Amino acid sequence: MDFETFFRRELDGLRGEGRYRVFADLERQAGRFPIATYHGEGGPRDVTVWCSNDYLGMGQHPKVLAAMHQALDGSGAGAGGTRNIAGTNHYHVLLERELAALHGKEAALIFNSGYMANWASLSTLAAQIPGCIVLTDALNHASMIEGIRHSRAEKQVFAHNDAGDLRRRLAGLDPARPKLIAFESVYSMDGDIAPIREFCDIADEFGALTYLDEVHAVGLYGPHGGGIAEREGLSGRLSLIQGTLAKAYGVIGGYITGSAALCDFIRSFASGFIFSSSLPPAVAAGAIAAIRHLKESSVERQQQQERVAALRAKLDLAGIPHLNNPSHIVPVMVGEAKACKAISDELLSRFDIYVQPINYPTVPRGTERLRITPLPFHSDADIDALVAALSAIWARDGLKRAA
Ligand code: PLP
Repeated sequence: MDFETFFRRELDGLRGEGRYRVFADLERQAGRFPIATYHGEGGPRDVTVWCSNDYLGMGQHPKVLAAMHQALDGSGAGAGGTRNIAGTNHYHVLLERELAALHGKEAALIFNSGYMANWASLSTLAAQIPGCIVLTDALNHASMIEGIRHSRAEKQVFAHNDAGDLRRRLAGLDPARPKLIAFESVYSMDGDIAPIREFCDIADEFGALTYLDEVHAVGLYGPHGGGIAEREGLSGRLSLIQGTLAKAYGVIGGYITGSAALCDFIRSFASGFIFSSSLPPAVAAGAIAAIRHLKESSVERQQQQERVAALRAKLDLAGIPHLNNPSHIVPVMVGEAKACKAISDELLSRFDIYVQPINYPTVPRGTERLRITPLPFHSDADIDALVAALSAIWARDGLKRAA
C-alpha cells in the first residue's frame, strides 16, 4: 500500500468538506487572559480568545500559580512513575481527598485527563460487571462512547435527555440484569442540562448504577462548585460523578468520585489507570488550590453568568442566532461547515477574535457552529467588538438572522 498517498487523500477529503482542523498557535498570557498572543502569518499579535474552556480563568489565578510554583520547587517536575510504582505523591492523595469532599463521596481517583477517566472507568465497569448492559445518552462525549465500546458490553442508546425513552428501555430489560446509566450534566456543544433527578428516580426504580459526567459543570455550578448535582442537591444519589481538572479548575487531569469500594474497584482493575504514569505533583497542587478557592468563592461563577447574560442580550439585539440554553455555553449557529470555518478565519484575520469552528463529527452535519464561552474577564468592549464583528459578517453574507 502507498501509505503516504492514502494519508494525503483522506486529509484532502476533510479539507474538501471544510472540516480539516487547523490549530491556532496561541501563547497564553497569565494575567491578561482572555488576551493571547497569536503566532500567525504576519508575526505575533494580540487576539481575544472567545472559546476557552478555562471558564473562570483559574489557569492564571495567583493562588493556583503560587501552589504550582511551590510544588514544582519542592517535589520536582514529574511524578516519577505510575501510582503503584513510586508515582503516588502526597499531592495526589490530598487532591483525591479534596475531590471526594467536593462531591460528598467516600473516595475519588484521579486520571491524566477527563477523557481517560471516562474511558477507563466506563470500560472497566461495563466489562467487569457480569452481564452488564449500558444505557447511554445519544449525545454523550466521545470518551464515554469509546469506553463503552471498548468494554464490549451490550448497550442501548436512549434519546438525548429523554427520561421517558430511558424508562421504556429499562422496563423492557431482564430485571435481574445489572444496568448502568451513563450521561452528562451540561452538554458541551448545545449547553443543555440533563434531568438528573428524573434519571436518578428511574435508576432507583430499576436498581441501576448512575454514571454522571460533570466535566462542563464542576467549579461552575453549585454553591461550592460541585456541579449541577450539587446545585440540585443530588450528589448523594449518583453512584459515580466524573469531572475534569482542565476546564473550570484551569490545569489538567480528570477524576471520578464514588463509594470507597467503587473507586477501589476501578483503581484495581482499570488498565488506563494502572499502567499510566501519574500527574506531575505541581499539577495536583494547582488543582487543589483551584478547587479550594472555588469552594469558598462564588464571585467568579457570578461574574461568568453575568457576562453570559450580557452577551446573549447583545446577540439577541443584533439578531445573531444562538441556542437558548440554561448554561454558560453560547453556541452561535451557522449550519454549514465551510461557512463556519470561513467566519472563524475572518474573525481571526480581520477582527483579532479567536473562536474555533465546531464541525462534524463533534456536532451533527448541518448544525455547525461557533461555540462561544464568555469568561468573567470579557469586558463590555470585548462583547461589543465580538457582536459588531459577527453582525458585519452576517450582514455582508446575508446570513440567516434570528427572529
Ligand atoms: N467529557 C466531556 C463531556 C468533555 O467535553 C470532555 C472534553 O472536552 C471530556 C470529558 C474530556 O475531558 P478532558 O479534556 O479533561 O480530557
